[in-house]
Amino acid sequence: MAYDPENIFAKILRGELPCNKVYEDEYSLAFHDINPQAPVHVLVIPKGDYVSMDDFTAKAPAELITGFFQAVGKVARQLELDEPGYRILANIGTHGHQEVPHLHIHIFGGRPLGPMLAG
Ligand code: 5GP
Repeated sequence: MAYDPENIFAKILRGELPCNKVYEDEYSLAFHDINPQAPVHVLVIPKGDYVSMDDFTAKAPAELITGFFQAVGKVARQLELDEPGYRILANIGTHGHQEVPHLHIHIFGGRPLGPMLAG
């Protein structure tokens, strides 16, 4: 799947649409999900044109992959989720139910999250 530069997260990255920012560095941007599924629901996106985790891990430079995953950990600690814990999730493609075609990692926390998959 080719990257669509008009996807909503690309627009947020370019500053064309607002977001409720949690964290930003040279590799990543993190912001609150518009429709939270947990008391804390934050999205972390890389600064680069990557459709999904599949695309990212196949094509992104190692420095960006490292910086992006470090940012996910930093965001969780900044939100004080490291204790008692949290969940990360990346939906990929049709079976993964991915809606926005720019890689994003969901961070969920703030309550016990129950079993891994709903059904
Ligand atoms: P996906 O199903 O692609 O893994 O998740 C997309 C997520 O993006 C959903 O949780 C949805 O609520 C969130 N989302 C969609 N549009 C916007 C938006 O304009 N702003 C923010 N902050 N989140 C959005």
